[in-house]
Parts: sequence; structure tokens; C-alpha cells
Amino acid sequence: MRNTDEMTIVRTIDRIKQSSLIDQVGNTPLIPLRDVRGELAKSVEIYVKAEWHNPGGSVKDRPAAAIIQNALDGGLLGDSIHLLDSTSGNMGISYATLAATFGIKVHLTIPANASKARLSTLRALGAELTLTDPLEGSDGARIVATEIANQSPERYFFADQYSNPMNWKSHYLTTGPEILQQTEGRLTHFIAGLGTSGTMMGTGKYLKANADDVTLMAVQPDGPLHGLEGLKHMASSPNPEFYDPGLPDAHLQMSTEDAYRMAKRLAKEEGLLVGISAAAAVSAAFQIGAELEYGLIVVVLPDSASKYLDLDFWRDGQ
Ligand code: PMP
Repeated sequence: MRNTDEMTIVRTIDRIKQSSLIDQVGNTPLIPLRDVRGELAKSVEIYVKAEWHNPGGSVKDRPAAAIIQNALDGGLLGDSIHLLDSTSGNMGISYATLAATFGIKVHLTIPANASKARLSTLRALGAELTLTDPLEGSDGARIVATEIANQSPERYFFADQYSNPMNWKSHYLTTGPEILQQTEGRLTHFIAGLGTSGTMMGTGKYLKANADDVTLMAVQPDGPLHGLEGLKHMASSPNPEFYDPGLPDAHLQMSTEDAYRMAKRLAKEEGLLVGISAAAAVSAAFQIGAELEYGLIVVVLPDSASKYLDLDFWRDGQ
């Protein structure tokens, strides 16, 4: 007769074998933009990393997969220990999608003003939701998650995407190597928006250590009130534990209006329906690209337009 620890380990290994969806995370396409307006010099190229090709529909599948895998390996998640975290959307969808394939329950705290579609998606995937004060945003949702974790530590594994090192490590281990390989080491600039900063911290560290000479550029909203969903204005938000503002070579502040304009342009000129933070990052890429004589710029596009198509700007003007 096996003891309880052994049985837990066997069950965990069985679960890992059963989840094939987790193997589909990463290895997303790298797509060249056509520069139809001729804004760039001939030897300047922009490539976009299309993260909506992940099974959960966004870049957040990478940290979610690493966090879940790591917790399962350490016996921190199980039938009676649920995954708990705060989210404003994408990370919750990634947790719920991947956890479902392991038969693991997910409890999320999320601002009550998240879109109906977002909340319905999470509920459809089986997540239990605690709605938090919309005025407190994602920072408020994180505080409530911390309170729930402290009240019932035996019931939850508190994943805490803002402090969990598996967040940035997932990008160090996957996004960074993929980009280096897909560009055959030719990239000169890497651009990503800052939310938890996991994408920039992990990919940026990997590229600094392994690419010949790469410039890292971080994209932030241009003020505390903005429509760049998924991004944070770092000066007015609590900073994630692993965020190092000194890692990027430059920080660019982008406006919501620029992002909206670029989202419409990418749809019409490139056939790419991208999310708002993705459009802000591409707008930054064109800004930088226009000043270069040569270069290969890689931009991370965290998600597609599917969650944002009901925003009015798609219908405004050209
Ligand atoms: N854009 C979107 C749409 C996101 O959901 C996120 C994650 N919050 C980001 C950008 C930023 O990614 P990261 O948390 O890795 O900085």
C-alpha cells in the first residue's frame, strides 16, 4: 500500500501526462509587417510575435503553464487545493483553460467592471469568481486575493502572478529562445509592453545574455488613466517584485489614441486584428523604426482584437 505522499505524486504525474494542451503553449508565429506606407528604410524590418496563437488566446498562457506545472511538481496543487490569483482578464483565462486540463479548480478575484464576455468566458471554463471594487482596479483585486489566501491557506495555492518568479522565468525559457531562433540571431531591437513586466523581464534577460547586441524597449501607458488594457503606468502603480526598471534600455510612453489608430491600421493594411496593448507596441516599433537605417525589430503582440471588438473606436473615422 502506497503512502499518501506517493499517491499524490503518482496522481500528479498522471495529470501531467493527460494534459496535452499545455504542450501547445508557445512556439507562436513570428510575422513580418509589410510597411505598406513606406515609413521605414529598406533595411529596417518589423516582426510581430503573434501570442494569440496560444491555446488560451494570449501571451499569459506561458506564465500560467509554468506556474501550474511548477506548483504540480512541488505538490502545491491538488484535488482539495485550488489555484487562487487576481486577474484583470488574460491571466485568468489562461489559468482556467490550462487548469481545466489537469482537473484543478481555479478561484479568481477580478474587478467587477470586467466585460460581460470576459466574466462569461471565465465562468464557462469553470472558474469561481470573487468580484472586487471596480474603482480599485487590478491592484484592489490583488489585495482581496491576498486576504482570501491568508484566511484559508490550507485551501489555496496563491499563485500571485506579480511576485511568482515562474512568471518571468517562463519567458526566459520560451519566448526569448523562440525569438532568437526565429530571427536567426539577427534581431536588433525587442519591444514589449509592461503589465506584470514578466514578458520584458524574462525575454529581455534572455536576449541580453544570448543575443549579440540587442536594444530592449519597454512600452507603458502615457498616464495613470488609459485604455491600454493589460499595461501598467509604473510610476503610479505598485511595482511587481521582479520588475527592474533598469533592464530595458529605454521606456516609451504611448497614448491610447495612438494605439487605437494603429489597431485600425493593422487590421486594414496587414490583416491583423490585434489587441490594444499590441497596437501600442507596434506604434512604438514604427516610431523607433523610422529613426533607424537598418535593424530587425521584434514586437510581442499579447492578444488579438477578439476581446475588444465592441469598443467604439473601430467605427470612428478611417
Ligand atoms: N497586454 C495584455 C493584453 C496583457 O493581458 C498583458 C498581461 N497583463 C500584458 C500586455 C503585459 O504582459 P506582462 O504581464 O508580461 O508584462
